[in-house]
Amino acid sequence: MEALRIKSKANVTSLGAVLLGQHVACDAYDENRPIRVVTHAHADHMVGLGKSLKNGEVTIMTPATKDMIDALKGPRFLSRGPVKTLDYGEEFTYGDETLTLHYADHILGTAQALVEDKEQTRILYTSDFKYSRTTRVDADILVMEATYGDPIRVRPFGMMTEGILISLVEQGLKRGPVYVFGYHGKLQKMMQILYEAKIKTPFIVPDKIHQVSKICEKHGMKLGKHLLPYDDEEAQSMLTQNEPSVVFYHAYSRKRVDGEALKIRASGWEFRKPCRKVGTNEYVVALSDHSDFNELLQYVERCNPKMVITDGHRSEAARIFAKEVEKRLKIPARAAPA
Ligand SMILES: [Zn+2]
Repeated sequence: MEALRIKSKANVTSLGAVLLGQHVACDAYDENRPIRVVTHAHADHMVGLGKSLKNGEVTIMTPATKDMIDALKGPRFLSRGPVKTLDYGEEFTYGDETLTLHYADHILGTAQALVEDKEQTRILYTSDFKYSRTTRVDADILVMEATYGDPIRVRPFGMMTEGILISLVEQGLKRGPVYVFGYHGKLQKMMQILYEAKIKTPFIVPDKIHQVSKICEKHGMKLGKHLLPYDDEEAQSMLTQNEPSVVFYHAYSRKRVDGEALKIRASGWEFRKPCRKVGTNEYVVALSDHSDFNELLQYVERCNPKMVITDGHRSEAARIFAKEVEKRLKIPARAAPA
């Protein structure tokens, strides 16, 4: 009975909505849920957001995530419906359930969502997270991401990658501009790494990345003193004269880059080495803002829940990870949707 009752308190739908308790749907639209939570501003976590704004009672996110969405989708997007921002740790009560958001180390603004129901069952969704700095939250039911949930997905080199990124950029700057490719959030983390390493050359960024970077600075990240929009005259003249600068492009950018220039791509899917040469002047560095297999398992261990549900909508390895949790930690686990 107990197991059955617990089972009905969390799920992941075929559309990718993570259902917590009776009222909350995270990261995708669900027509039966009045409360929508957006855990962070990555596209696969903003599924059906327009519908949630139109049909839901309230859409909840951290203030930083709201700013990120305003930058990515324009400030009018969120004004289509009722939005409430919730700081980490602040409570939101609906009926007999209480929702709180907790810090997750991923992109700026990312939150884990915790629902506590009238039976004091704590139902937690981790969203995407990198283990080391993420707040550990106790829970009875743990819904979690499992991007790197396969036991072969481990990165034994840890922080080494940051040092390699720094020295690659330093080498490249001796010859002229260096081009760095990555996703929103990860790009800003790389800016921060380079800035903390005292790389003083200007950072040149296209408009959207500039806006996202400004939001990151507003919320406390330090990205460097010389953030130049790509279309700026100064940036253009630096690039035509081949002066040292670091140019940041989105991973999907189709902008042409001079074949002689050093290109660095950040990828979470590198496990053998912290850095791999993929072309004459091209490298992939293993920088991820997700936990690897061991870190995912560590989080489950720390949390010590009665049951684990892995998000099979967003992670191919969800089924594998659920099996590993059962085998190694003896905690009932399954992937959802089934
Ligand atoms: Zn994400």
